[in-house]
Amino acid sequence: MTTPPDAPRVRQVRPATEGWKQKKDAEGRPLLQFASPKRGKPPVHLADLTPDERVARIKELGLPGFRAKQLENHYFTHWTHDPAQMTDLPAEGREELVHGMLPPLLTEVRRLETDRGDTIKFLWKLHDGALVESVLMRYPGRITLCVSSQAGCGMNCPFCATGQAGLTRNMSAAEIIEQIVRANRLIADGGLGGRTLRRAHEPGLSAERVSNIVFMGMGEPLANYARVMQAVRVMTDKEHGLGMSARGITVSTVGLVPAITKLAGEDIPVTFALSLHAPDDQLRDELIPVNSRWKVDEALDAARGYFDRTGRRVSIEYALIKDMNDHAWRADLLADKLNARGRGWVHVNPIPLNPTPGSIWTASEVPVQNEFVRRLNAAGIPTTLRDTRGKEIDGACGQLATTAEDEAVAASTPLES
Ligand code: SF4
Repeated sequence: MTTPPDAPRVRQVRPATEGWKQKKDAEGRPLLQFASPKRGKPPVHLADLTPDERVARIKELGLPGFRAKQLENHYFTHWTHDPAQMTDLPAEGREELVHGMLPPLLTEVRRLETDRGDTIKFLWKLHDGALVESVLMRYPGRITLCVSSQAGCGMNCPFCATGQAGLTRNMSAAEIIEQIVRANRLIADGGLGGRTLRRAHEPGLSAERVSNIVFMGMGEPLANYARVMQAVRVMTDKEHGLGMSARGITVSTVGLVPAITKLAGEDIPVTFALSLHAPDDQLRDELIPVNSRWKVDEALDAARGYFDRTGRRVSIEYALIKDMNDHAWRADLLADKLNARGRGWVHVNPIPLNPTPGSIWTASEVPVQNEFVRRLNAAGIPTTLRDTRGKEIDGACGQLATTAEDEAVAASTPLES
């Protein structure tokens, strides 16, 4: 590690869990769980299948293949799984067909609204009782949904509420997609605050829908690679899926290097974000346990590789934590490491934390925060403080976790059928 020039004068708070204990491996390091524990899989759904597989499945049911397209239309364009609305399907056997191809996946347990209804957090129960969340946010000119990709998380970051219980299981592609479909349905029905644009032909419905996706809810998306990629394909498929722009989809990771390289090789130019949070291995080893597997320089090389393959500028996410990672020398070291890999390929998003009195995980002082940003910008790295919408409902990466109260409400909520 570079010796910080201002080291004797700065306070260094070290990462530590508060109120819970990190699980450790045999060598005493924070346990990392990459494999999903074996649990009953969710029912197979249209969105888990490729367009060809959908047709094949429909034919297995003894129906003509074009029924697949009709179901796609209902689900991805009208965001419905209600057989009563699918009047273009023959009445006989319709219920069974719809139930077989679009089985219920998410049961809404709770909905929390803030920012005058412009931000909504959903708590969902999956078929096996596992709980996940998503956060819907209206911004000027766009609507963003923060989705979960795993129930729990195996990356064991000491600041993270989601990681405390470890990884429950990977979510299926359709469980990821269903979060968007449900959000679109709510928007169409006028359930999101703000001015609603009406549809020309169906004035009762909103013309808007989710335009941006961030994989910053529960889970490490690249640890659930195949299902996340299937979900991304469905999101971007204009003919057989949601028809969203790949650029509006942000896949973020704490730094699973081989998966970053694999992602760069896919032909889908999503926006890629690396949650770095520290430029030096000494701190990052403690802050982001996966750093014991892939170091800062390896993660940055992979991020630069992503830019080389896709031409898409990479985002570096950096939560500013008082006296832990917000030192001026760390801003300089980060700038040096990014500039050493070339110019114009990256921008940095420092994320101000909530002030949490008495906690070591608390917001940087505003002048310190501003100095951090100033130094990066002065070094030629475009840097903008990120909006932390949803703070009041803990809707930020690393902040989504179910409470005992959530569990109690969930336990008494019957699954949708
Ligand atoms: S911060 Fe992200 S990667 Fe780390 S434990 Fe939480 S959800 Fe997982």
